Amino acid sequence: MTTPAQEAGEAQEAEKAARLRELAERAGRELEDAPALEILSWAARTFGERFCVTSSMEDAVVAHLAARARPGVDVVFLDTGYHFPETIGTRDAVDAVMDVRVITLTPRRTVAEQDAEHGPRLHDRNPDLCCALRKVAPLEEGLTGYDAWATGLRRDESPTRAGTPVVGWDERRRKVKVSPIARWTQDDVDAYVAEHGVLTNPLLTDGYASVGCAPCTRRVLEGEDARAGRWAGRTKTECGLHG
Ligand code: SF4
Repeated sequence: MTTPAQEAGEAQEAEKAARLRELAERAGRELEDAPALEILSWAARTFGERFCVTSSMEDAVVAHLAARARPGVDVVFLDTGYHFPETIGTRDAVDAVMDVRVITLTPRRTVAEQDAEHGPRLHDRNPDLCCALRKVAPLEEGLTGYDAWATGLRRDESPTRAGTPVVGWDERRRKVKVSPIARWTQDDVDAYVAEHGVLTNPLLTDGYASVGCAPCTRRVLEGEDARAGRWAGRTKTECGLHG
């Protein structure tokens, strides 16, 4: 049975979510044509410590932009236990040289514990469950203390990302979702990296166009879109973090 105190708490949460949603939708319209740094400055001003950046450590472009908007900003990295060593190395380099606070989230179970419970190579047999356990759940928990999070999603990466707003509402997590480089192309990313000497994952110069977990990522072929190397040969195109 729900107590009056619980009901009051839920009503407060619902009211807060409605307020944040309205804020996100208005900002999405007003900032659609704004430069990425301006979008992040808005997020930093509006949410302060309750704003973070998530990074897959494919590159540190959004983290770099966010650190310019808010030095010392939290950069959240999901360590699934299946990353390439190059990705972990990029995370460590970002932590060492950039003005950010890297926060590493881990799943509740190690890979060995997951293997014991679900059998080995769950990523081959049921990648949706593997992503749910190793990505979606830890991020859900890790974002609890924030009202807004930024991602590096770009509209040109794949058809599923073509409609990404620069600021939108993440209904599942009831948070504001900021995608400051949604309108950027790969050329824009390359130009920013070159101009600012931003750290990038070494795999990007080794045939990989998008870097995820090692068992589910391959190099891309000529003419393929950037995410074609993720879960190749399967209908799966997203890990569930952005659904
Ligand atoms: S990308 Fe692959 S290995 Fe990583 S969590 Fe998803 S299914 Fe598991």
